[in-house]
Amino acid sequence: MKLGILGGGQLGRMIALAGYPLGVSSTVLEPAAGSSAAQVCAHVAGEFDNYQALYELAKGSDVVTYEFENVPVGAARWLAERVPVFPPPRALEVSQERLAEKRFFTSLGIPTPPFAAIETVADFRAAVDEIGLPAVLKTRRFGYDGKGQAVIRTPAEADAAWQRLGGRPVILEGFVPFDRELSLVAARGRDGQIVTYPLVENTHIDGILHRSVAPAPDLGEELTERAADFAARVLAELDYVGVLAIEWFQDGPRLLANEMAPRVHNSGHWTIEGALTSQFENHVRAVCGLPLGRADAVGFSAMYNFIGNVPRAADVLANPDAHLHLYGKSSRPGRKVGHVTLRAGSADELRAKLPEWDERFKRTPS
Ligand code: AMP
Repeated sequence: MKLGILGGGQLGRMIALAGYPLGVSSTVLEPAAGSSAAQVCAHVAGEFDNYQALYELAKGSDVVTYEFENVPVGAARWLAERVPVFPPPRALEVSQERLAEKRFFTSLGIPTPPFAAIETVADFRAAVDEIGLPAVLKTRRFGYDGKGQAVIRTPAEADAAWQRLGGRPVILEGFVPFDRELSLVAARGRDGQIVTYPLVENTHIDGILHRSVAPAPDLGEELTERAADFAARVLAELDYVGVLAIEWFQDGPRLLANEMAPRVHNSGHWTIEGALTSQFENHVRAVCGLPLGRADAVGFSAMYNFIGNVPRAADVLANPDAHLHLYGKSSRPGRKVGHVTLRAGSADELRAKLPEWDERFKRTPS
């Protein structure tokens, strides 16, 4: 089978790599030559709104997927008229716009932080009054890794945030004093079969994921079931096919949806070694119409991102618990260049080793 992938980053690379053992060969569409994914599979060069390039990808693919959520919805729909495209373009549409996304969660009975839509400075003042401070002002589109947002704690900060982000559609959210951030990765097959990975605990530095611990420690069964139920509602409503990630804030017993990503997710990288079937393999299986594999965790894992500097393989692998993934990228500040997953056989072993791993792979906030 031939799989087309929109986007040539590390997610595309790991999808392509997962396809080979299943007899699935991939082609990525990506403007840049020598991208992370194009190093391991075929490549069509072009922008995502270049219809000649899209046509070429469609012609050479049995099915097309994407590895980032800012693919133009028009391009995904145009492709979907020519070749099956999974996840469905509507999933892109919902997740590209924070207001649509929050309203979508709300319509399915999934709790979110309080939010208000803002266009004008008058809307902004009214929203600050209604939601109260602290709050977070966010652009509605093209926000990722904490970009395009400002935390507002005081009225003076409100003015500064509006100066920086106002003048375009934004949303104001109540600041959630969360205990921790969790995420759930789930996959749905073409036949509607759903598998759900365990909830994982995520730590961010400068808005970029630093560490995921899987399964999240000290989880009640009830929380896990609730998150899985919420994810199932999203998957069913979108008639979704492929892997989906939802990010949550846990505030005591409350689980609030922050955002979703219609793709494989950084907080699911641990599944390569830490689950019976990786998120990448299940994504390939789903979009290619193959049965899904079990998503249970095998042991206990912690994943750390490498940001900016490419580490030396020998240094990382000096730890016998470590599994290294380099993305074939050069060092550049703020860039995700690889990750490491460390595994433990028991929750106690993980707890005992975590401080040492945290120290070894620590990242200093800028
Ligand atoms: P986002 O781009 O929406 O995922 O936000 C990036 C990070 O900012 C999140 O991972 C949280 O750590 C923090 N954040 C975003 N929204 C809120 C909120 N409403 N309350 C508290 N923290 C937030």
